[in-house]
Amino acid sequence: MKLTRRHFIKSSLFLGGSLLLSDSLLYAANQKELQWYPAYGKLEQKGKLAQRVEEAYSIFEECELCPRQCGADRLNGEEGFCEASARLMVYSANPHFGEEISLVGKGGSGTIFFSKCNLRCVFCQNWPIAHKGYGKEIRDDDLADMMLHLQKIGCHNINLVTPTHVMPHIVNAVRIAFKKGLRLPLVYNTSGYESFEILKILDGIVDIYLPDMKFMDADQAEKYLGEASDYPEMSQQAVLEMHRQVGLHRADSRGVAVRGLMIRHLVMPNLVAGTDKFIKWVAENLPKSTYVNIMHQYFPDYEAFDYPDIWRRINVQEYLEAMRWAEQYGLTNLDSGSIKIRKFYEKQKF
Ligand code: SF4
Repeated sequence: MKLTRRHFIKSSLFLGGSLLLSDSLLYAANQKELQWYPAYGKLEQKGKLAQRVEEAYSIFEECELCPRQCGADRLNGEEGFCEASARLMVYSANPHFGEEISLVGKGGSGTIFFSKCNLRCVFCQNWPIAHKGYGKEIRDDDLADMMLHLQKIGCHNINLVTPTHVMPHIVNAVRIAFKKGLRLPLVYNTSGYESFEILKILDGIVDIYLPDMKFMDADQAEKYLGEASDYPEMSQQAVLEMHRQVGLHRADSRGVAVRGLMIRHLVMPNLVAGTDKFIKWVAENLPKSTYVNIMHQYFPDYEAFDYPDIWRRINVQEYLEAMRWAEQYGLTNLDSGSIKIRKFYEKQKF
């Protein structure tokens, strides 16, 4: 039987409708306790979230979910560059305590790892999941239940790792979960290789964008990021749109992030990622108080050993140089972890 988009959507809308009564009661009960309200909840109350689900699923018919624009008919089993069909696969869903401090809080970040990836870096540090596709096939309802479980055990957010190629499933699952009581911020934890037009569908759904900005030069992106020479241009456009949608990083009275843009940049050996250009770009195109995490934890993995420039860890000088540039360009909201590492490396150096 030919699987249609309508078939997918119909079952989820039916499920949503059948839960309305209990959801209203649950929502009313929670109102006293909850000051903050998720972006996707407001969209659902305006009656617009179902339309976004339909719009997102329609893209699976001729996939343009990311800038590669393969055109694969994923609903009928075709796979594009990401090697994903429209069958949703998840590797794990757990509280994570290694993310940025405002995402972790006391209860952890509710992290869901999706199998496969649309970027496919040669140095991928999650290659068994992203390249080999380890994981289990699940339905959108199961994904919704995973979100609710993470909320129940005290996580502060739903952290969607490598979400781009499965965005329609996510939007559908969020709607189902909202109707069952999900009230946590969504963190869109992406490689940054996003299409500007596709991000518009997420406007009013995502509360926190957590994009990487990996490389600033087309030739380096071509070499290291699955031949994505347009990565610098696409990621820059995407980050500007993310900032337009959610603004600067904001936290509640406990210091837990509730909304905003948080950019990650991984310093690479021999500074091949163009860290100086990255910092200059942020300083010139976004408020200087934009949250930026300059990360030190690169280690060679997957196919990195085939590339002499990146087959070692970074050294102290490279990291300190990156942090010096951040200071010179006047970035004022650097991740506290970056600052601690800089202090640690400074002691080592002198
Ligand atoms: S998400 Fe996958 S199939 Fe769709 S355009 Fe990107 S690489 Fe191609």
